[in-house]
Amino acid sequence: MKLLLKADRLIDGTGAPPIHNGAVLVEDGRIAQVGACEEIRLEEGEPIDEIEIAGGSILPGFVEAHTHIHCSAEADAYRHVTTESDATLIMRGVQAVRSALTSGVTTMRDLGSKNQVIFPIREAIESGVIPGPRLLAAGTPITTTAGHCNMFGTEADTADEVVKAIRQQFKLGADCIKIMSTGGGFTPGTNTRAPQYPADTLRAAVEDAERLGLRVAAHCHAAAGVRNCVEAGIHNLIHCTWLAEDPDDIYDYDPDVVEVMVEKGIYVDPTLALGRLNQMRGRERPAGRAFGDPERRFEILRDMWDRGVKFVTGMDAGMTNARFDDFAYIPEVMVDNMGISSMEAIVCSTQTSADCLGILDETGTLEPGKAADVVAVAGDPLADVRALHDVNTIISRGRVVKRAGELLI
Ligand SMILES: [Zn+2]
Repeated sequence: MKLLLKADRLIDGTGAPPIHNGAVLVEDGRIAQVGACEEIRLEEGEPIDEIEIAGGSILPGFVEAHTHIHCSAEADAYRHVTTESDATLIMRGVQAVRSALTSGVTTMRDLGSKNQVIFPIREAIESGVIPGPRLLAAGTPITTTAGHCNMFGTEADTADEVVKAIRQQFKLGADCIKIMSTGGGFTPGTNTRAPQYPADTLRAAVEDAERLGLRVAAHCHAAAGVRNCVEAGIHNLIHCTWLAEDPDDIYDYDPDVVEVMVEKGIYVDPTLALGRLNQMRGRERPAGRAFGDPERRFEILRDMWDRGVKFVTGMDAGMTNARFDDFAYIPEVMVDNMGISSMEAIVCSTQTSADCLGILDETGTLEPGKAADVVAVAGDPLADVRALHDVNTIISRGRVVKRAGELLI
């Protein structure tokens, strides 16, 4: 039976003004029609399943571009990932994808999980064994020997080794590639302020991934790592923290590199909600300047936004305090701390992120022919972005997961 979802307003994810009294008609898992209620054409006498969200808003399902489904999101996340069996990690992953879906995430990208635990989870979702969003998987992240996330990554030092590691992940079924271009806070002993790979190694990675039809996302904290990634043409920068080599300087922001980023169409996932979650959940900030100056960081991000960088919504879910149903904090922090509009943050959460993942033909906006990935929230997120926390109805590839407040999975 066709499904008609109606609400006070419809935000289609493209940035177009909202449609008042909007509706989406779903048929066979796809979006058949989108528009004002009175414009939707139905055949006479046709039986229709109708859901109406009074006072609510219809949007595309959210696209969470950065998760680690095998990580626990608890204070002990590091111990869990270094000591637990693959079987336990898979069970964590099953719970993680369910949790994300119930918060309105209908597409999720995993940017690095241990061994091959991500693949059976992706297959179980596809075959209907477990509920979950459309899942894109990087397989294991690629890192240097003893480098960032070596405890669940594939270690590769030279360009030849990196290319081999990419081919291995491709062979296992990876949808994209994740490479650690600098050290990271999660891995003791790595240097967040120094690159792990020179630009030519990253360039070799991009070329081979492109040959295989895969896009490359690169973790980068150090400004020198950001420069290497931009020079190499990495498709998606993760964190992009611009840390200076000298900790006393904190940041080494370079607007000229940002101009190249814009020219090359590089997407940035600034993982900017982590600070808010840690603060909210009582995690002490480490002493010293290692973790920077949040106010200056948001100024930098805003400058990048103003220069035209395309921002995507990644939480780094699975890291301490970043839970899998926390998606709505990302647009919230973008509005509160970067000062962009709710509409802009919604477009990042849907259209831009789907485009970054290379699946905008399939999802990310409400347009006829696309997969029926649709959510409805109570209230108006354009008036207050916090409304995105209150997801009332979720349709994932045509399947009703939550109906007017009632969870069906
Ligand atoms: Zn990550």
